[in-house]
Amino acid sequence: MRKLSLKAGITSKGAVLLGKYVACDSHDEARPLRVVTHAHADHTIALNKSLQQCEIVLMTPATKDLLSILKGELFLMRGNVKTLNYQKPFEYRDERITFFFADHILGSAQVLVNDSGSRILYTSDFRMPKTPVIECDILVMEATYGCPHCTRPFREEIEDVIVDIVDKGLYEGPVYIFGYYGKLQEVMEILWNRGVKVPYIVPERVFQVCKVYEKYGRRIGRFWHSKSNRAKELTEKNEQFVGFYHMASRRRFKDTKNFKIMVSGWEFAEPCRQIGEKEYVIALSDHADFEDLLNYVRRCRPKLVLTDNYRIGYAKVLAREIRRRLGIKAVAAPPRKPKK
Ligand SMILES: [Zn+2]
Repeated sequence: MRKLSLKAGITSKGAVLLGKYVACDSHDEARPLRVVTHAHADHTIALNKSLQQCEIVLMTPATKDLLSILKGELFLMRGNVKTLNYQKPFEYRDERITFFFADHILGSAQVLVNDSGSRILYTSDFRMPKTPVIECDILVMEATYGCPHCTRPFREEIEDVIVDIVDKGLYEGPVYIFGYYGKLQEVMEILWNRGVKVPYIVPERVFQVCKVYEKYGRRIGRFWHSKSNRAKELTEKNEQFVGFYHMASRRRFKDTKNFKIMVSGWEFAEPCRQIGEKEYVIALSDHADFEDLLNYVRRCRPKLVLTDNYRIGYAKVLAREIRRRLGIKAVAAPPRKPKK
């Protein structure tokens, strides 16, 4: 049997290697199976290359639907894409690959590879408490908030805070919310469930992503395409609505006098911070905080942990804290953060 530490790794190009055949979230020349754990850009690195060169590209059906929108319908047709549902094992030669649910953007998966009796798991991005903990021998995990100061004491009240601030803004007219795909839909869901039933206005991409969320049974409210007559009428009359836009569109709205809310995971001191006269940042995250990361390791009971030192975060600090606090062998991989 190969040494445990040889059964998993993270390359300097961001590929998470599990067992003998799988490379997750970036391309690796030697691996026939590419897994896409979810549709965020830092997990679809060099996907074009994998589509051309890998025998199979694996992802959940929802991730496939989201990528068809974010990358264009023809993009995935370049390769042999196979969809895999949660907890349905896929056998490849002498290994078994299984996806498990991860609470993050729609379609997110944890990946378990069973290789000659060893269980190797990659959590990818996840959030607690809804993500199931999968026991394994080697754990590869995200380290976004892997530093002790990245702990959010106010997670219970965050939904109330969002509803209050949006209600306050709507009193004066439209409210604009900026965030990333997935998080915008989550805010829509929170507002709709809490009775904020004004029209939601969304641009093309956000509109298409919303449609995918609805296809998978998520109730995110009544939304209108920003180019629809209804949306134009609401905007011209400065009536009550909530606009949901990608973070990158913020600049386009810099002169608007309406309420603006940014949704960010990088807020730890308070749930809501005012940054301008009518501008706020709300601390809503779709990643585990430091305590959650440690709890996952504690419950998962691996023999070895690799923390992702390729993507943004605190891989080295997290590995050190796992060693210190839990007495489990842990290292950051790759050892040096690559320059991108
Ligand atoms: Zn992500």
